[in-house]
Amino acid sequence: MDYNTETLNDIARQVASLMQTAVAKQAEGGQQAKIREVETMMREALRQIGAEALGQFLSSSVAPSAPTLACPCGGKLKYQRRRSAVVLSVFGRVSYERDYYAGCQCHCGQAPVDEQYGLQPGKVTAGLASLLGLAGIEFSFEQSGEWLKSFLLFEVSENTVREETERLGALALADDLEQSQQSQDEAYLQKRMRAAVRVPQRLYGSLDAAKVRIEPRKKAEKQGDYETWRDMKVGCWYEVEKVSPQVYSTREQAKQVREGTVFRAKKIRYYCDIAEASEFGQLMWGQGCLAQADLVPELVFVADGAVWIWHLVEQYYPRAVQIVDWYHAEERLERVAQAALANSTAREEWLKDTTSNLWEGRVEAVIRACTLLAPKCVEAKNAGTYFTNNEARMKYDTFRAAGYMIGSGTVESACKQIVTRRLKCSGAQWLVPGAVKTAKARAAWLSGGWETLSARRDQLPLAV
Ligand SMILES: [Zn+2]
Repeated sequence: MDYNTETLNDIARQVASLMQTAVAKQAEGGQQAKIREVETMMREALRQIGAEALGQFLSSSVAPSAPTLACPCGGKLKYQRRRSAVVLSVFGRVSYERDYYAGCQCHCGQAPVDEQYGLQPGKVTAGLASLLGLAGIEFSFEQSGEWLKSFLLFEVSENTVREETERLGALALADDLEQSQQSQDEAYLQKRMRAAVRVPQRLYGSLDAAKVRIEPRKKAEKQGDYETWRDMKVGCWYEVEKVSPQVYSTREQAKQVREGTVFRAKKIRYYCDIAEASEFGQLMWGQGCLAQADLVPELVFVADGAVWIWHLVEQYYPRAVQIVDWYHAEERLERVAQAALANSTAREEWLKDTTSNLWEGRVEAVIRACTLLAPKCVEAKNAGTYFTNNEARMKYDTFRAAGYMIGSGTVESACKQIVTRRLKCSGAQWLVPGAVKTAKARAAWLSGGWETLSARRDQLPLAV
């Protein structure tokens, strides 16, 4: 926005003079102000100016006063008086006065300024809500208060941060539900197909899950031994690009030596829920429609061997290429070697051979090697079954030749970022709805959808 430079400079001169006075006063007391103190004092002054200015702005932005207004109930509201209100904004508490209407049969009241700006007296403004939500998806609600105080220069209660974070999460949840429902509708799918602007040549999908501890905060809510672990299922859609050797990180250099090509996921969209697989499948399909998963020429799923994942993939995307994450498969061989072979030379040799066979797509040889060890240990027997069940998903030679990324690191990182880093951080205690809403808000942020989400915050009532 363009402001009048002269006006701004004028205000700045006044603020500077305020600071000079404050600094001079400190110097009289024998204390020389440091720049950090000046900055803090100036921020505090600007915050107070902001609060006062916003209050004056809201008090003066009056729609032409009318004697009556139409009430949403169909009745009529009559002008009462100027009435004061308080909201919590990015500048802290802001008081203002505005026209107030009441006197309808339905007993409701209305302030046009509040309607216009989506203000709820006594509550948080949309601008502050977005910041509270950002803190709430990053830190425990308890910690958020401390962080916010450093940035905002006033205190916000733990409950307010929670309330606003969950409100944004509820909005993300409502979006997900709407998208899931919509994507069941043939007319929507047809319309979308005609409108699809950009369909990537190759799209990746992945699914995984991580545990969340569910435990009521208050003792009163606990019934007996109420503490349980629930699976937060996490999914993502993404595209993949080759990393240019000039910009390899140390880790990528090591990868290059081992694997030849280094890939990186881009345009990642995340989604998550605590839900049964069937319900989560609807979410996957809905989000998949946004990513054009059903329209792309080539769809590739990379995931660990979990059965629910491949069932969903087969149900919704029967034509997709299915790949078991290379690292899970490789690690499985290590476990077998550890369990079955005591002699370290024999162990290393076995591991070298089978890993190389796996890498080259000779899965039958891997299965044979496991089967031979099966009588010795249950780990080898189970691995034999695992490789047999996933044989078609382990054609790593073919997959590599086709230029596919064969690791599911993207979704594992998603689980870490959404679940481990926030839902498992110290001080975090959850009931299912709060965990889901916070995770969904965090997924929206990580997918680059925060601005869109917080811009629509007022579309959802507070009581959700
Ligand atoms: Zn009414």
